[in-house]
Amino acid sequence: MILVVGGAGYIGSHLVKELVEKEEVVVLDNLTTGHRKAVDSRAVFVEGDLGNEEDLQMIFKSYPIEAVMHFAAFSLVGESVVDPLKYYQNNVAATLTLLKVMMKNNVKNFIFSSTAATYGIPDVELIDETTPTRPINPYGHSKLMIEQILSDFSKSYGLNYVILRYFNAAGAHQSAVIGESHDPETHLIPIILQQLLGQREKVSVFGSDYDTADGTCIRDYIHVTDLASAHILALEALLTGKKSTEIYNLGNGLGYSVKEVIETCERVTGVEANVEMADRRAGDPAMLVASSQKIFSELGWKAERNLEKIIADAWKWHQQQQY
Ligand code: UDP
Repeated sequence: MILVVGGAGYIGSHLVKELVEKEEVVVLDNLTTGHRKAVDSRAVFVEGDLGNEEDLQMIFKSYPIEAVMHFAAFSLVGESVVDPLKYYQNNVAATLTLLKVMMKNNVKNFIFSSTAATYGIPDVELIDETTPTRPINPYGHSKLMIEQILSDFSKSYGLNYVILRYFNAAGAHQSAVIGESHDPETHLIPIILQQLLGQREKVSVFGSDYDTADGTCIRDYIHVTDLASAHILALEALLTGKKSTEIYNLGNGLGYSVKEVIETCERVTGVEANVEMADRRAGDPAMLVASSQKIFSELGWKAERNLEKIIADAWKWHQQQQY
């Protein structure tokens, strides 16, 4: 059985939907940002906190857990600057409690959701896993700290793990039964689609004087279902006994500027956006694009869904959003 911590959240719930086809799944989520309705009914659901040793101990005693996949983190860069305690408390301290209980119960397989924010402002155009990690905000630091802890646990306790560094997760399940739902929403694609649906007045473009072709920031958008399939390959590798301390980037290898994303949303939906130029947002690097060559070579994974597909699936979800 696989324990998915944070399985009611955006990325976790998409992973669970794929994973229940292959494995027995138990989801632990405290529902602070996740949605009970997003959890596939084939998974066992436990409402509880990953920082609570008793909740965790109960799960490990009740179910034969072979591996843990950990999605339960706060992930807003700006918020992490305003409230670093929240980030270190949850993303670091609570995760350490989870790892402690895993070690106590002799569960040694772990898949960890990390982030492109560990790279800070890279000085290369295409980021690979050898690019130096120099986070520029508490969110990025909190994730990198856990990466370090995993490396040390591997050496001392024989922990096997895969770290997946996501670039910009976006899109929705193609059934539109689950999708992205944050409150407040801060991510670019849902904000544009909400504007196109008349749910917000305008889309603000945060900075148009960056050193990029059109002056707006470039990001690498990756479909949430592609993220899910990478997790399943990583899990299969761990469950078949592969010793691992691997780190993989997950992206499309293609960068799109904020303006290009807006144009693509307009093209896919046939609706024109109301756009205003605004100031830069603190902590935004000009360009973050992944090389995912390593996971392709080692696990045979690559992104299958392009930006149009990401937006088309997200559009279906936003038109009939259920939670
Ligand atoms: N962005 C924007 N307007 C918005 C939200 C985001 O211009 O209302 C920009 C943001 O500055 C960044 C890109 O869109 O360059 C992606 O931002 P998002 O918050 O979606 O993801 P992040 O890259 O911060 O993880």
